[in-house]
Amino acid sequence: MPKFSKLLKLFCLSSQNLKWKKLWNLLIFYLTNEGRVEVSREGKYLSTLSGAKVLGELAILYNCQRTATITAITECKLWAIERQCFQTIMMRTGLIRQAEYTDFLKSVPIFKNLPEDTLIKISDVLEETYYQMGDYIVRQGARGDTFFIISKGQVRVTIKQEDAQEEKFIRTLSKGDFFGEKALQGDDLRTANIICNSADGVTCLVIDRETFNQLISNLDEIRHRYDDEGTLERKKINEQFRDVSLSDLRVLATLGVGGFGRVELVQIISDPSRSFALKQMKKSQIVETRQQQHIMSEKEIMGEANCQFIVKLYKTFKDKKYLYMLMESCLGGELWTILRDKGNFDDSTTRFYTACVVEAFDYLHSRNIIYRDLKPENLLLDERGYVKLVDFGFAKKLQSGRKTWTFCGTPEYVAPEVILNRGHDISADYWSLGVLMFELLTGTPPFTGSDPMRTYNIILKGIDAIEFPRNITRNASNLIKKLCRDNPAERLGYQRGGISEIQKHKWFDGFYWEGLQNRSLEPPILPTVKSSTDTTNFDDYPPDPDGPPPDDATGWDKDF
Ligand code: AMP
Repeated sequence: MPKFSKLLKLFCLSSQNLKWKKLWNLLIFYLTNEGRVEVSREGKYLSTLSGAKVLGELAILYNCQRTATITAITECKLWAIERQCFQTIMMRTGLIRQAEYTDFLKSVPIFKNLPEDTLIKISDVLEETYYQMGDYIVRQGARGDTFFIISKGQVRVTIKQEDAQEEKFIRTLSKGDFFGEKALQGDDLRTANIICNSADGVTCLVIDRETFNQLISNLDEIRHRYDDEGTLERKKINEQFRDVSLSDLRVLATLGVGGFGRVELVQIISDPSRSFALKQMKKSQIVETRQQQHIMSEKEIMGEANCQFIVKLYKTFKDKKYLYMLMESCLGGELWTILRDKGNFDDSTTRFYTACVVEAFDYLHSRNIIYRDLKPENLLLDERGYVKLVDFGFAKKLQSGRKTWTFCGTPEYVAPEVILNRGHDISADYWSLGVLMFELLTGTPPFTGSDPMRTYNIILKGIDAIEFPRNITRNASNLIKKLCRDNPAERLGYQRGGISEIQKHKWFDGFYWEGLQNRSLEPPILPTVKSSTDTTNFDDYPPDPDGPPPDDATGWDKDF
């Protein structure tokens, strides 16, 4: 039998090609429009498919290994599309829709003066609704809390005066026109009828009062409340390391191994009173995995961040083989190691660590930086037991109100909109915060499959399909569910009150936030750190079996 892959015909249509819209649904995935195929896994027959079936959609979405083999058992005709192309189309479609909706909103008087990023947020929550000829979209005298913008078709506006038999025609409205705006301001009695007047129907973009109010107030205040003093202070700290070079450092031990190399505990030879962590990354490996941009962004974000819940980066170096980052050392070890040893944490221990992350996210999000890699491995304890975020390889500074599309993160912590390629922003971090809470309370993340693809499938079924063990209290599970909402715009932290909504949640009732911020609060677990060179809280690492990497002098890292 011919292998499926041999029959695969690759199609790659761009958005300039008019036909792509029509074919879009077919082209996302492999579709057998004739013939039959057989599905098997590890040689075991699973099923036979025929007719218009969609195959391989998971691999195209998730960039994963395929979990089954498809073999053609008759001649087959297939439509196919490459992942890269699919993702580009998804991104463009998302951006075009966002721009179109935002333009619509700008034409509505009550929205006109709102800043662009607020309009983008509103356009993200607009829902499309469809009506058929003659449908009453709004009925005079009824109560309503929804606002409509017409995106396709025409409607008739009529009014029935008190004693009159007939409805009186007032006017027609069409694409770009809107109605029901008073409902957003609280005036909810409809004063006219709005009736669909197009043979092929009307499409409206709709938002309700509650969603609107949740989004609108405060947003900008939250966004821009940070000051620049911190950045100046940070520059001064980095100044102290201006003259330090690689040859001034002595390596004492290995603290960990990351994606691109080792993290060593080092001292500046002339000052043995302090120690630092030196992250050493193989340039060749960075290039191979195309992570150059991510590394530059990691350096920039960590080098500027001035937050006690984020590991500080003091200086970077480079040579022919490696890039280096000299950071503050956190000798309490990884939260992951402690969780592994204890199995799970109680409510109040989890609350303390979650609160540290909330503080770090507050700092980052108010600067429009998305972190994207929350997990216990990336939370390090300092010598007092306070937690700090480390590894900013996936962090990114977003333009105000904009989204990003790169698929990244750790499978168990990835938000559904990342999997579905819909574009994501800081609300993806709130999703991962809910996942972290669950993992800390139970020892296992809520969405766990035997391979990434299965994990993604479980994530897409949503948090309500997950059984919560008894030891998760009602308040904790309520917060987790509010953070892990499928719709990014509905997640706690993303709405009107910003991250303070999380701080005010019942689960945090009585939590001493000020004590956390001024470090007077006693951490739940006190690590034993005897000196600045004590590495007992870290696992042992054998020498790198691969030896030194090849040289890379191509110069891509000149700004590092
Ligand atoms: P990374 O490559 O950033 O993921 O780091 C790999 C591992 O090295 C981490 O999981 C930690 O165990 C350790 N590590 C990284 N940075 C530090 C630091 N600043 N202090 C102590 N250990 C660190």
